[in-house]
Amino acid sequence: MPNMSESFVIIGDGVAGSSAAETIRERAPDADVTVVTDEGEALYNRILIKEFAKGKLPEAPISIHDEEWYAERDITLQLNTLVTGVDTDAHVVHTHEGDDLDYDKLLVATGGTPTQLPVENSDADGIHHFWTFEDARRIREHAEGAGSGVIVGAGLLGIDLAAICAGQGIDAKYLMRGNRWWRYALSEAGAEIIHDALAEKGVEPVFESGASGFETDDEGRVVATIGGDGERYESDFVGIAIGLNFNAEFLQDTDVEIDDGIVVDEYMRTDAEDVYAAGDITRFYDTIRGTHAQNGSWGSAKQQGSVAGHAMAADDVDSDVDAFRWVSSYSITHFDFPFLSFGFPTDGDEHVERTYSETEWRRLAFEDGKLIGGVLIGDLAPQSKYKQLIRAETDVADQSDVLLQQNFELDELDADL
Ligand SMILES: Cc1cc2nc3c(=O)[nH]c(=O)nc-3n(C[C@H](O)[C@H](O)[C@H](O)COP(=O)(O)OP(=O)(O)OC[C@H]3O[C@@H](n4cnc5c(N)ncnc54)[C@H](O)[C@@H]3O)c2cc1C
Repeated sequence: MPNMSESFVIIGDGVAGSSAAETIRERAPDADVTVVTDEGEALYNRILIKEFAKGKLPEAPISIHDEEWYAERDITLQLNTLVTGVDTDAHVVHTHEGDDLDYDKLLVATGGTPTQLPVENSDADGIHHFWTFEDARRIREHAEGAGSGVIVGAGLLGIDLAAICAGQGIDAKYLMRGNRWWRYALSEAGAEIIHDALAEKGVEPVFESGASGFETDDEGRVVATIGGDGERYESDFVGIAIGLNFNAEFLQDTDVEIDDGIVVDEYMRTDAEDVYAAGDITRFYDTIRGTHAQNGSWGSAKQQGSVAGHAMAADDVDSDVDAFRWVSSYSITHFDFPFLSFGFPTDGDEHVERTYSETEWRRLAFEDGKLIGGVLIGDLAPQSKYKQLIRAETDVADQSDVLLQQNFELDELDADL
């Protein structure tokens, strides 16, 4: 049994931090559990805030936990509290108000903050980054009255901003630096399906561009974007999604290893004693690929929070806790056809793909002969078979003809499953 008076402090009340708190409470009924967040509200569904910003959903269904939820479980929730430092020797967390919180075990689940474009006027009024519910409220309010828009950032978050423009009737250009959307995971054939669907919704993709600056009016509001191609694009609404900076500054004076994310093992342990990390912020040990990896998705963050909670409350981590072993997925629901990426679609040393119809396409990524990820457009039926193959770590790259059949059964493969 865990020590009765043990105290657990969790920094971040996103899905990773919150699921860790829930798990710890289940495993250690008498422990002190405190969750600290700089946001002003308890856990909400970050995946759904785009639907709110589009104007498709009211606020209520986006909230997951109210403050009561924490009170009922005797979990202390500290809203509006920024963690500014951690002393891992003294086991103390410092907050912006000068308060100190002692811990026996600490979880860092602070995710990331969108990166600002390093160009002129990129902090002007009317230029939005998108991560929190507060951002979504600002975006929705502005988008409802905006006429022209520009989106920068050809990835999974950029396309949400593009879809918000479409949903709010903004005449928008989507400026991409390369020749296609999400070029690290999609070939031109796959990306073209997305480009056509964007155009159909009134968002025009512009390639080999990006943004090199913004023009503002006398009041400091954005009025136009200067593209990397030198063109001027009218835009009283701008959305930028070019990546995330990890929220780990408060660990800089500690011995927690940070290498493009907080480095943890398969139990979410950092190399500092009694300090764990979970969610988007980690560079975790992937037991499937046998290497450290990164992932920004809801399901993965939730599972890492749960593994961390189990490990933090366990007497003997190695024998009592199931290691993190997870194939993530990320879907896009803005179009008439479904879209899903799974595993690590941007990695791999070998790739195969096939087009099935105007809105049906598939690409698979292999590493050392094993399936590690892919992208499905139009037909998601094979996703669970692919995920099973990833978990099984079997060599199947030489059987890609079977894997790319529109319908296939696992027993058609010569593989140990
Ligand atoms: C608009 C949008 C759409 C998305 N859509 C999808 C999707 O369709 N599918 C999918 O799988 N994933 C999606 N994601 C990604 C997914 O939401 C994240 O992977 C997931 O929420 C990460 O959870 P987390 O708990 O690790 O971090 P976060 O949810 O980022 O939570 C971290 C929390 O820590 C707080 N914090 C940070 N620093 C401090 C500090 N110093 N002191 C106190 N608190 C701090 C932050 O304010 C935040 O509340 C989307 C994300 C966004 C923004």
